[in-house]
Amino acid sequence: INADRSVTPPLGALNEKQTYDWSSEEEEAESKARPVQVLLVKDDHTFELDESALTRILLNNTVRDLEVVAVSVAGAFRKGKSFLMDFMLRYMYHHDWLGDSDEPLTGFSWRGGSERETTGIQIWSEVFLVDKPDGRKVAVLLMDTQGTFDSQSTLRDSATVFALSTMISSMQVYNISQNVQEDDLQHLQLFTEYGRLAMEETFLKPFQSMIFLVRDWSFPYEFPYGQEGGMKFLEKRLKISENQHEELQNVRKHIHSCFTNISCFLMPHPGLKVATNPHFDGRIKEIDGEFINNLKVLVPWLLSPENIDVKEINGSKLTCRGLLEYFKAYIKIYQGEELPHPKSMLQLQSRHSVIRDESLQLFRSVKKMGGEEFSRRYLLQLETEIDDVFVQYIKHNDSKNIFHAARTPATLFVVIFV
Ligand code: GDP
Ligand code: MG
Repeated sequence: INADRSVTPPLGALNEKQTYDWSSEEEEAESKARPVQVLLVKDDHTFELDESALTRILLNNTVRDLEVVAVSVAGAFRKGKSFLMDFMLRYMYHHDWLGDSDEPLTGFSWRGGSERETTGIQIWSEVFLVDKPDGRKVAVLLMDTQGTFDSQSTLRDSATVFALSTMISSMQVYNISQNVQEDDLQHLQLFTEYGRLAMEETFLKPFQSMIFLVRDWSFPYEFPYGQEGGMKFLEKRLKISENQHEELQNVRKHIHSCFTNISCFLMPHPGLKVATNPHFDGRIKEIDGEFINNLKVLVPWLLSPENIDVKEINGSKLTCRGLLEYFKAYIKIYQGEELPHPKSMLQLQSRHSVIRDESLQLFRSVKKMGGEEFSRRYLLQLETEIDDVFVQYIKHNDSKNIFHAARTPATLFVVIFV
């Protein structure tokens, strides 16, 4: 079921927008390409990997020994991730990829409404074969994530889905709405930190390409749509400056330290039919021209043979077979009890901020002899001491990382401030 891009495969077979409810057994009988739920977050917040489905896809003999490119789209729900994925599928299938203006959009299940669907990771059952310009043939895997930041997912569910998809992919598209807000960056920091905890230490940056995709961008007069405007905009948002609050600086440093490539693309709003009409079925003729024009740039920018990045772990390129092994190993770590719950990491940071502020406030509020200039020295000293203590706590916490310490589950990661 592996399609070479140079042939036109039967996408017409998938002509109905539908929700895919799918199990491994059914796949045997059905050979039609479709989304496969490989990671499922169950109602009791445990994670289940459909190992046999994943094995069938990644160990298929035409792809298993090829280097793999894994493209993932992650971010909050109902922000057009699956909708975009379906255009990516069209591109992978057809040369003249946008197709007919009346053709409904099919593939991953996308839909309107504010309720979410299952939580987890879906991959497209068909792995695409692409010739890189240097003649190498690589396998391209498309992954869609669902259920981050919705009301039923805990922070841990969201962090796990996001972290796993970032660890498994070579290109992570972080789909965000309207702007890159401080909390988008904080989420990214938390989730990538959650990923890094589960990985072995390396001198290299742990993750590869991070693409900020801003949907419904409405300030093209400040930063134009597309990649160049996006890069300028992102540079400004991720800039670290001396007079910034330390917390803002840290988020930025963290993001820079995690990814080898960081880029950004600003997308216009697709128009009201897409956003609000429940009967809209994805046909191009009902989508704003400006959106389509930018889609024509975005999708090849992400997926053209010269732009796709092969997955690397610790500097070595991975085949589909290798990716399967990593997927299995990573999920085991998240299934175990050893990892901290992301909340405790967040709490450590915010507790520190609160206590720090309170202490400095207390220092300032007490009357002191010797004048402003004299007491400033002691204020600085106090700040340094508090920060040093925090660093100690972080180290202490990190030393409980399963790769550093003996495994004593359950007692780990309890952070106590005395
Ligand atoms: P997902 O949960 O992030 O995968 O979101 P979906 O792809 O299922 O799309 C959710 C809704 O958003 C659908 O009604 C789409 O028609 C609509 N949608 C898709 N792309 C965009 C976009 O760029 N902007 C807006 N405002 N809506 C979009
Ligand atoms: Mg979706």
